[in-house]
Amino acid sequence: MVRPFSRRWVTVLLALALVGLVPVAASAQTQADVDRAEREKEIAEARQTQAYQDYVDVSAQLEEAVERYEQIYAQHADLVYRISRMESAVERYQTEAAELEEAARDIVLDAYMSGQSNLIGSAFSATTIQDLVTSRALIDRAAKRELESLDNLDAVSREADRSSAELDVRRADVAANQAEAELIVDEISTLQQRQREILAQADANLTAAIETLKRERREKAAEDERIKRQQAERSASRPGAAGGAAPAATPGFMCPVQGGASFIDSWGFPRSGGRKHKGVDMFNARGTPLLAVVDGRIKFSYNSLGGRSTHLYADNGVVYYYTHLDSHPSNISSGQRVSKGTVVGFLGNSGNARYTSPHLHFEIRPGGKAVNPYPTVRSAC
Ligand SMILES: [Zn+2]
Repeated sequence: MVRPFSRRWVTVLLALALVGLVPVAASAQTQADVDRAEREKEIAEARQTQAYQDYVDVSAQLEEAVERYEQIYAQHADLVYRISRMESAVERYQTEAAELEEAARDIVLDAYMSGQSNLIGSAFSATTIQDLVTSRALIDRAAKRELESLDNLDAVSREADRSSAELDVRRADVAANQAEAELIVDEISTLQQRQREILAQADANLTAAIETLKRERREKAAEDERIKRQQAERSASRPGAAGGAAPAATPGFMCPVQGGASFIDSWGFPRSGGRKHKGVDMFNARGTPLLAVVDGRIKFSYNSLGGRSTHLYADNGVVYYYTHLDSHPSNISSGQRVSKGTVVGFLGNSGNARYTSPHLHFEIRPGGKAVNPYPTVRSAC
């Protein structure tokens, strides 16, 4: 009873399907759909091509902004260091001037005691110690030894004044410098935001194109670096030139910043307190995961200069140092062994980087001594 009924329906359905199928493919309606789809595809492709071009432009601008930032930051550190040294020099001059003033007062007092009225007059009419020191009366009165100290006072006072004036100029430089640095920090974060937007909207083709671009840039940089190193080796017989780590010391090294970062070779740039930069500063958004570059044991720490840090001890004795972290991951603990690619921190600006654009300060220390990490990082990021 059921079979003829169902067979009949199967036949009807089959017929309907055939009728439906054949004309549908040929209908004008569908051709328009196909054309529209074709146009949409072309528009989408053009959009992605534009996005790719934007990405290339933004990357170049970002690199250039980071370069400017590094320069200005180095200038800033250098200026601040000079100022601190000038301040102590001014302080020394002032102490010396105070001692010499004391000596000048003694001369005046001595003159008063022995009734030298012309000198007393000068002493009382002088509005500044400089007037007194350079007054004829005092100079006439002073014995040879005393005269020397008075000359000295004059010189020291002038030096203190000159240094103070220069200090004012330097302080103005620092303020201008800081304002410029802040603008660049904003620019960097805007560009990073733009880059993230492009990546968020990228389709598979664009993502692949961007990956290719990144790889080509890496390869070019590695090649440039290789040539530079070769030239340095040829020209310099001096040992310990900032050539970076030997590739054999960092086998399997991977980029420490997930998704890469913007950075330049800032090895040896001036830093606060007259120190030299011993690492590479890798700029990216706060909170970007930082990865173990090789297998090893990690140690978390905190200090006021570096802020939150991670040390990674590779089995071959090379130490990798990550600092200015925003935070440490909560799922692993200090002292633990981790494998390459494990998240060992999150990018930030803790420690003395708290007024800078968030970045990872990264060091490579073969045998405990930092070498320029740039070539190694450049070829991996
Ligand atoms: Zn740094």
